[in-house]
Parts: sequence; C-alpha cells; structure tokens
Amino acid sequence: MSILNSWGQHSQQCVEHIFELSQSQTHQRETVIIGGGISGILTALRLSRVPGKLERGITLLESAPTLGGRLFFSAPQNAQALSRSEMFLKRLEHCRTGKAGGFGFESLGNEAAQSIERHLRSALSDEELQFVDLFISEAQTETDNESRTTFFVKKGLIPFSEAIGNSSELLTRKEAEILSGLLRDTPQEYASVESKLSWQEAPTWKTLTNAQKDSLQPFLETLVAKGILEYNEHTAKKHLDEFSRAINNPTHASFRRTSGFELACELILRSRGIEVLTSTKLVRLVSPQNHSFELTATNAAERKELQITASSVVIAAPLISCIPFLPREFLSGNQAKNILRNPPSSLVVAEYADFGTFREPEVCAPLKPGDKVLFTTERIQGTINRAGSLLLFSFLNYEESLQAESVRETVGRIRRAANRVLVADALKSTAGRTLVHMNTGIKERLVLMPVARQFENPAVPLREVRMGVKGLYSCGDNFSFDIAPWKNIVQSVHDVISILSKES
Ligand SMILES: Cc1cc2nc3c(=O)[nH]c(=O)nc-3n(C[C@H](O)[C@H](O)[C@H](O)COP(=O)(O)OP(=O)(O)OC[C@H]3O[C@@H](n4cnc5c(N)ncnc54)[C@H](O)[C@@H]3O)c2cc1C
Repeated sequence: MSILNSWGQHSQQCVEHIFELSQSQTHQRETVIIGGGISGILTALRLSRVPGKLERGITLLESAPTLGGRLFFSAPQNAQALSRSEMFLKRLEHCRTGKAGGFGFESLGNEAAQSIERHLRSALSDEELQFVDLFISEAQTETDNESRTTFFVKKGLIPFSEAIGNSSELLTRKEAEILSGLLRDTPQEYASVESKLSWQEAPTWKTLTNAQKDSLQPFLETLVAKGILEYNEHTAKKHLDEFSRAINNPTHASFRRTSGFELACELILRSRGIEVLTSTKLVRLVSPQNHSFELTATNAAERKELQITASSVVIAAPLISCIPFLPREFLSGNQAKNILRNPPSSLVVAEYADFGTFREPEVCAPLKPGDKVLFTTERIQGTINRAGSLLLFSFLNYEESLQAESVRETVGRIRRAANRVLVADALKSTAGRTLVHMNTGIKERLVLMPVARQFENPAVPLREVRMGVKGLYSCGDNFSFDIAPWKNIVQSVHDVISILSKES
C-alpha cells in the first residue's frame, strides 16, 4: 500500500516520511533530469513507469526551493535554515492559506491548463489519482466558481463588456463595434487570410479613419502587446482571439495557487523513489568519455557541492537558460540555430502585496480576486491573485529586455498604472527609481522573466530532442511555439520517453 494513503489523517508525518525515504545514498544514477517545471515533472512521472528505470536511479534537480517552474514563481520565503521537508510544509501552508504569491497557473489559458492536467494525471496510478484528488479537495474552501470580470481602468472601472458593447468614455459607439467585431472573429474566419502584410498594411486596418485608428491602437496594444500592428495580420488576430477566449474563463480548479498541484506532484515523485533535489542548481555538465556524464550541482543554502554520474541527462528547461553550464558542442546544429533565431519574449511583472489594504477604495470597490484590470493609457494588464496581491505586467521583446532603458520604461508604465488603483501618493516615493520596498509600507516585487510567447513570428517548434552528444536530451517549450507552448512540452517529453524506453 502506498505511503500516500496516510495523507489526510497524518499529513505532516506523511511528508516527513516521504522526504526521508527519498534521500538517495548513491550518486551514480541512470538518469538525471534538470529542471522541475511541468516538463521535468512529466518526464519524471513517465520515466519512472518504464520498467527498470526507477531501480537504476532517477534524480530530478531543481534550483528553486519547490517544483513548478516558471508558472509558480513565488515570494521568497526567507527560509534558508529550513530542511527540504520543512520548506515543503511551509510552502503548502502558504498555498492553503492563500499566501503564495506569483501568478500560478491562474494565468494559464483554460485549454492549456486542462491539457497539462490530463497529461500529468495520465501518468499516475489509481492510488495516486485518489491522493491528488484528496490533496486538491483540501483547498476547496474558497468560492472560486464565479466568473472573473475584466475591467478597464480610467478614472473609475469600466467592465470590459460594457466598454466594447456601447459608447463610453473610452470609445465611440462605432469604435466599440469595430473592436467587438475584431474580438468576435473566429480563427476559421481569418484562417484563410494568410496575408504576408502587417496588420497596419492590411485593408481591414487601412479602411479605418485616422481617429478610429488612434482610438483603437491603445486597446489592441493593451490586450496583446505593443507593436501588434506591425505583426502579420493573421498572427495579430490569433492573439486577439486568445485574449477574448481567456478573459471570462474561471480558473481551472486544480491549477489555482491554493491547490498546490505542483506540491502533490512532488510528493508522488518522491513516494515512487525518485530522488528530488530542490534548491540544487546544476553548474557543470561534462561528458569525459562521451558515454556518461559528470554533473556538478550546488546547494547555496547548505553551501554544499554535489557530484553525480549519469548515463543519460534530460534537460527539462529552456536551452537558452542553460547556456551557463551547457558546452556549445552539446547542442545539435538545429538547437544552436533555434536559440539564436528564436529568443523568448520577456515579461516584466510587478507584484504589489496586500492590495486590499492599499487599494484606492472608491475606484476599486468592485474588484475581487481573479478579476483582471486593463490600463489602456499605459498598455498594462493586471490581475488580482488569491493571495490578495495586485500583479501588473507587460511583455517586452527579448532584445529590448536586455536594455536597462526599456525595462525602466516598462516599470515606469507599470507604476503609473499602479498609481491609478492604489491609495493616493502610495508610490510617489519611488517614482523613476527601482526601489523595491517603499516607505509607505507597500511592498513591490519586480520580476523579469523569459516566456514562450513570440508575438510577431511564432517560431516553428523545435522538434529535436536528441542533443549533440549521445545520452543527452532536451524537452520543454523551448520558447518556440505557435500559440500553445504546452503542446511542445507534451510532444517533446513523449519523444524523450520513447527514446529512453528503447534504451532500457
Ligand atoms: C504569465 C505566463 C502565462 C503563460 N500562459 C501560457 C498559456 O496560456 N498556455 C501555455 O501553453 N503556456 C503558457 N505559459 C508558458 C508556460 O508557463 C511554460 O510553457 C511552462 O511553464 C514551461 O515549463 P517547463 O517545465 O518547460 O519550463 P520551466 O517552467 O521554465 O521549468 C524549468 C525549471 O528548470 C529549473 N532550472 C533551470 N536551470 C536549472 C539549473 N541549472 N539547475 C537546476 N534547475 C534549473 C528552473 O528553476 C525551472 O524550475 C505562460 C507562462 C507565463 C509566465
């Protein structure tokens, strides 16, 4: 009977027991997976079901304190002195009590969330499925089934449906009609319009009057990203369609921050006997005889260095972020080209904690967790998460995000937007500067992270999972996607598992 069965009555002991059991004694492993995001979790779940693999040793290395990857970045826990199991329990408590910050899967499109969940679940046994359901049900105290509302923020809040359905202080009746027409377009309607023209050169845009163009452009740039009119018309409309399908969907239950789905996955991996080394970063990867790998990883909190030998290594993180430890010759020709040609986009995010206390009461009265806010003057989108933080964000072209000036400009727009919904003068003390803590008591956390969102020319996904040396594989979204990165994750994990299964 699985150790997971004691979940519920003795959850803390269950966690401690599982963490004790999953301490490995040897550092000679058959497979090491680098990265504990969705790709790494799915790879570990699938690989451990291939006969013989688990017995010969699987290790998962993750540099962050808990699994989950890009979607689960969260406020630092100041928990350096904690053991891994204590850290896990603290994180779980944060999730359950709604204190875990960051986006979580709340920002994930519903189709992506459902598909990822289906794939993760399909790698679980019946007992593990029962455990996951129980684990998630513990978080179901919140009432999150009501639909989310999206508001434009001007002097007050204007519900999205009102603004695009009628004349308002934002748009004339005609402009509202044009915008809602664009949002109603379905992919089938424009699929045949494989025009090479940018949107601003296309007849649909050119026939508008200058006044209409001036009014609509800020909306389109807010709903998608700055520069949308320079994209190919077809691509631009696909992004708009994504937006309009996403705004009214309630968050998929398993993927709310409070659910802690990633934590349930970590317990399952550990209970199967996979060695999960969180807070452990791979810093060196060599293949001395070209048939096995020597890995050096560090645990900064414990000031420990770890040496592992492995026959196969699966990199479950975007290759571009692995350049610090990945020798150039370890990349295949296509992978090297792909990294150069398809840089990711960058997402600039500011998280304002305790929004309930600091929000401008008159403007923000109707806002509740899960709602979205759109600031067309600043071209900023935002959301209020379960932890009660306001998250404001904007996408930047990757090259631009390497320039401090562009990032400063984006942070400036974010702060101007924040000023509209926070109590008067809340951010005044930091205007134009990059301070994180404000003497008004508001905490602001800035994050710049690469995301798989290539707005202009969606790249052809990198299908190649074999790398430049034998036994080295790569999976994940690799920042190269059409509009759904999860498809690349699932396909690449599937390919890696097929190859590794044949090798057993
Ligand atoms: C705001 C936002 C919205 C999104 N919306 C969607 C959407 O609607 N649909 C969709 O399909 N996708 C969406 N995505 C993209 C989706 O989040 C990613 O495709 C997915 O999270 C990638 O998972 P991954 O495991 O491949 O990579 P990651 O999540 O990046 O995981 C890689 C892991 O590797 C670890 N790592 C890296 N280097 C090392 C090292 N040297 N040693 C040890 N560990 C290391 C990292 O810490 C990380 O945890 C969105 C992303 C964001 C941020």
